[in-house]
Amino acid sequence: MDLHILGAEGGELFGYKPASFLFQDDLLIDAGSICSTLKLDALLQIEHVFLSHTHLDHIKDLGLLADLLTGLHSKPLKIYGTADVLRTLREHYFNNKIWPDFTQIPPPPMMPVLELVELTPMTPVYLPGERSVLPIPVHHTVPTCAFLVMWPGHSFLYSADTGPTDILWDVANQRDDLRGLILDVAFPIRMQWIADAAKHLTPKTAQSELLKLKRDIPIYFFHLKPAFYEEMVDELGKTLPDVGTILRSGQELLLGG
Ligand SMILES: [Zn+2]
Ligand SMILES: [Zn+2]
Repeated sequence: MDLHILGAEGGELFGYKPASFLFQDDLLIDAGSICSTLKLDALLQIEHVFLSHTHLDHIKDLGLLADLLTGLHSKPLKIYGTADVLRTLREHYFNNKIWPDFTQIPPPPMMPVLELVELTPMTPVYLPGERSVLPIPVHHTVPTCAFLVMWPGHSFLYSADTGPTDILWDVANQRDDLRGLILDVAFPIRMQWIADAAKHLTPKTAQSELLKLKRDIPIYFFHLKPAFYEEMVDELGKTLPDVGTILRSGQELLLGG
């Protein structure tokens, strides 16, 4: 199955785009880079958007997407997040100040553009096409979930933004069908202090985290900060030689099945 990497980096700069992953045309994970990476007909195919957390680099394009869909949508676009994520979206984004409340636009009896759907950590959501998504709570500065995306005989794991955690690796080690893991690496090692404070990984902490993985699967690094990109590429090559590849925005990943 194809995973289209709309955005793979930990910030925005010419040539670099924040996190968004499109699975099978209709399932989007995080909303950092949608409107500048897809044409309108592709945007209209998206039905499910899973948000790992509410940091701007993961929700930035949600409002602009809602605006584009207005008047073209045939049913509400489902936005999935934990209670914390949905509350923050309501209070601080779709609050009729920063941006209109697209869960009320257009007004009844018409269907709204957005529908917010609450996720419960460690409880899977079942989607058409025999797919399901399991939210896994990880360690970041705001409530954040990794996502295990499953389809018959296959799965992949997206760590979202996280510092060191055990539950992610417990889930990974239980899945014989795991086809890949997309892992946060945000700062170079000389900025370990800020990575620890911001609850992200560096190549050094990624190295110690990967010791918890007991299976041989492809590792894909994401969320490298554009300002330190080349330094981090070099550092990952030295710290984790022959372990994993760095995802790039615009890339397509074939995940089997
Ligand atoms: Zn974050
Ligand atoms: Zn982020």
